[in-house]
Amino acid sequence: MPEMHRGKNQVLFRYTPEAVFRYNEINAWCKVNSIEMKNSRSLPKALAESLAHMLHGWDAIGPNNFPDPEKFPNKYEVGEPYQVHYTLYPLVFVCRDCKRVHWYQNIDNLMKFNYNLKCRSCESRDALTQVPYMFIHECGRTESVYIPKHSREHIIIMINRGRFQESNWYCKTCNLPLTTPGKQGLGLRACQCGPRKLKRGSTLQDPSVHYTHTISLVDTGDTFLEQALENSSLGETLLGGLLRTESYHAEDFEDLLVSGPVGGEVEDKRARLREDLMSKGKTDEQELEMLLNLMESHLAIPQLSKQQHLQSEVHALVGATSPFIMQAGKSRPLLEYLFVRDHPRMQSYELSSLLEMALEQGDELARERFKADKQVAERLGIVNLSVLDAFPLLLAAIGYSRVYSEPKLGTTAMIRPFIDNRPKIPIYAIQSTTEAMMFELDPWREAAWLLENGFAANPGKLYCSEYTRGA
Ligand SMILES: [Zn+2]
Ligand SMILES: [Zn+2]
Ligand SMILES: [Zn+2]
Repeated sequence: MPEMHRGKNQVLFRYTPEAVFRYNEINAWCKVNSIEMKNSRSLPKALAESLAHMLHGWDAIGPNNFPDPEKFPNKYEVGEPYQVHYTLYPLVFVCRDCKRVHWYQNIDNLMKFNYNLKCRSCESRDALTQVPYMFIHECGRTESVYIPKHSREHIIIMINRGRFQESNWYCKTCNLPLTTPGKQGLGLRACQCGPRKLKRGSTLQDPSVHYTHTISLVDTGDTFLEQALENSSLGETLLGGLLRTESYHAEDFEDLLVSGPVGGEVEDKRARLREDLMSKGKTDEQELEMLLNLMESHLAIPQLSKQQHLQSEVHALVGATSPFIMQAGKSRPLLEYLFVRDHPRMQSYELSSLLEMALEQGDELARERFKADKQVAERLGIVNLSVLDAFPLLLAAIGYSRVYSEPKLGTTAMIRPFIDNRPKIPIYAIQSTTEAMMFELDPWREAAWLLENGFAANPGKLYCSEYTRGA
């Protein structure tokens, strides 16, 4: 097979194992067998979590499918796709000239017995083209189309009407159809996954033949987000950020996420200071306490006091024991969202600040354009429209499904690992820093819509006056 050149992103979406694709350069249908990976590493925790979440949705964790990624992360390996191995598929051919059908057990037989793709009947060379159909099933199994059992010497042709069900096999020697178009078409095949489950005959270009499933994560390339998850007041910080409370300042984002020293360290420092003061002759207990209290603010680490400030503000808003705080503290998507929104590393520019810049620079053209953009955004109910110059993304292809792209109740639909006959299940992943756009739906417009349509009740005066202010 000739070498194929495709971008890495393309590989993740279209050339993962078991995918069938039309290879235009050689004008043939092919199937991906495997992908070689480079820079392979173990499964990162955040990816394991998202993977587990997706697999639970499919009920796909089990002995014959995916191992639990959170319990057995070492049964996975993650790497960059490097080289795609593919083969000619399917191996059922029809003669362009006389329509006779030819079938080969495997690619070796084809190469050995008919390297030139010559027709056995009319002897035309390079006349054989692949039959563009295959059997697929929702459980992931596939099968090649087959010619019904018949005398090997008879000349069998395929009457191709463009669709599996409407086409049929026909014996020219007997002058008899071997299958009938309609329900049967090119044949019926039962699947092992359930009683009376028939595989579906499908054209190869039908997208339902192979859906690649991917996961995307914000990937900082270091452990910044992972360390933030250890911060004990993360829930309050993220809620404060989400609600944009008064003492939440985006420029403090990094300070707010830093895992502060635990209470014990402050205590230690206080004890050391006490000893120091005593050695300098301050022995009066009351005076000592007073001095230490005065110095308390200097003992605390500045980041910690910012965190504590925000913490008490959020407690006042939602209550110190609110379940929202715990939920927020465990939510990686919320952490990713605020990281992307507020971390200076994103190099983000909000439309209003671009407009201000244009005003300062006296750039009339840019000013007019940004102003018009802003009006369009406002009309659509979009606010805080930003461009990000350095959005760090991890895109990972984790498996495939057929027939259904999402879990479907009452079926045997299943997501499958790309490769399951190796000690570790491969996950193909690409890390890249890309440009992105970020926007928010105007909360006032959303609230107004909910009220208008009777999905929410007006909560009271406070919000009414805020609404007037906001509008
Ligand atoms: Zn022929
Ligand atoms: Zn016959
Ligand atoms: Zn099945």
